[in-house]
Amino acid sequence: MDSEQGKNKLDLYVFDFDYTVIEQNSDTIFYTLFENGQPPQELANQYVENQWTAFMNIVLDYLKNKMGVDSSKIKEEIEKADLVGGMKELFEKIKSKDGEIIICSDANSLFIKWIVEKNQIADYFSAIYTNPCTIQNDQLFVKRFYDQHSCPLCTQTPNMCKKKIIEDHIAKNPNKEYVNIHYFGDGKNDFCPMFSLKNQNSTGFVRKGFALEKKIESYLKQENSDPFKCKLVYWKQAHEILNLI
Ligand SMILES: [Mg+2]
Ligand SMILES: [Zn+2]
Repeated sequence: MDSEQGKNKLDLYVFDFDYTVIEQNSDTIFYTLFENGQPPQELANQYVENQWTAFMNIVLDYLKNKMGVDSSKIKEEIEKADLVGGMKELFEKIKSKDGEIIICSDANSLFIKWIVEKNQIADYFSAIYTNPCTIQNDQLFVKRFYDQHSCPLCTQTPNMCKKKIIEDHIAKNPNKEYVNIHYFGDGKNDFCPMFSLKNQNSTGFVRKGFALEKKIESYLKQENSDPFKCKLVYWKQAHEILNLI
């Protein structure tokens, strides 16, 4: 439908990826390649707080150069990820209502590409915003999505503020008028974009049983906390929310 300004009016549906679109964390699912299902202690010791992307590169470097694991072997493990139940039907429902779907994820472009192609869901997304990943000499390298952002709510992910990503996406699409924005997530870094939904017809879809649910609960218990402006819906499997689209 066109508005007076000639803009295309539609709703935007934003999805986190790990534990929201898929049941696993793509950044750790390939740890099966390590002997004990975990990176050795010498690697774990190199993790610096809030520097996840740097740690990913340490792990990927070790796999390639110490263990001789090639990228096809990592791909094989990543492709074992399972879609959350009803997720494909949910995407289908959103598209049937002419909604636009984007992904905002702190995983990386290659892992997401492998999983969405394997599950034949790539065509549902108009954009995938995540840390860029490349292969050089058969070794994977992940870069930070942003070098820096200034959001005070996202200090734990210095490379990513998903609220900013959504704002940038809107700015990149001046021909579209996003009437409502709906956000699906499970993690701590999904709090900021969900809290920023200011329209009461927008919805924050909080996955039950993960960190975001706890974070919202403890936030709302604080004295003088500002209420969420959007509706909040708690869900575990995607088929539970099909009728809300
Ligand atoms: Mg997640
Ligand atoms: Zn933020």
